[in-house]
Amino acid sequence: MALRCPHCDAAAVVRPNPLWRLANVAAWGYAVLSVAGASLIGPTIMVVVPALLLGGMCLVTETHRRATEPVHCAACGRYVHGLAPVKRARVLTPARASA
Ligand SMILES: [Zn+2]
Repeated sequence: MALRCPHCDAAAVVRPNPLWRLANVAAWGYAVLSVAGASLIGPTIMVVVPALLLGGMCLVTETHRRATEPVHCAACGRYVHGLAPVKRARVLTPARASA
């Protein structure tokens, strides 16, 4: 169910996908592991590290930007503040058996 924009009443409010946070963590992991792994390749490290480091920085920056993107309306482009958090499915736990 799409949320309605309080400015233009269009059902086009866009929230950042929660998977972008996971992608941001993965990008940090890539950045750290690629630089650490590059230390094992010998003198060619001088050629490889700048490419790996810049690639990691680009991934970290873009995934962070998308993960923290403000809630906005795709129709009018305005930011939408004060929305309740996204409702997530509850995990039902079995009732405890009385001992
Ligand atoms: Zn709008």
